[in-house]
Amino acid sequence: MQAIELLLKDEAATIQLGEDLALALKPGDCLALSGDLGAGKSTLARAFLRAMADDEALEVPSPTFTLVQSYDLRIPVSHFDLYRLADVSELDELGLDEALSDGICLVEWPENALSALPKTRLTATFSHLDDGRRVIISGDPAALARVTRSLAI
Ligand code: ADP
Ligand code: MG
Repeated sequence: MQAIELLLKDEAATIQLGEDLALALKPGDCLALSGDLGAGKSTLARAFLRAMADDEALEVPSPTFTLVQSYDLRIPVSHFDLYRLADVSELDELGLDEALSDGICLVEWPENALSALPKTRLTATFSHLDDGRRVIISGDPAALARVTRSLAI
């Protein structure tokens, strides 16, 4: 399978996808979350983290200013928001490689550091529809196969 296309009719569908992805991803996986402002990247990241924490009330602050927020969960997860990344070289200092050595990375605004992200990654690209969102998940075939199984499609 090359890519998975899903129609997310409302916020609950985006949250469900985040929960399904939390079951599918493994340490070393990098999930890039691409799409315009308001497309649903942070909604998905929050649902992913809450599912991984098994805590519906887990606080998930936006890492817009800190650029990264790390969580010590069943699998460690680092949530990056690269909107304000000044230079790709900064990503080293933020600890992307270390985070991927034993955990999962979720990366909002991956476009700001594409050359520094692992080539073996998944990308979820969100777009606005009149009603809801479309998301296309593509990338690493092995991870994509796990996602397909967790979505039962
Ligand atoms: P981003 O991080 O991409 O800027 P957010 O997740 O912060 O976007 O915001 C997305 C907004 O769209 C939120 O108000 C959320 O409730 C809403 N939303 C998320 N998924 C959907 C969907 N599938 N259909 C309609 N609205 C959605
Ligand atoms: Mg966001």
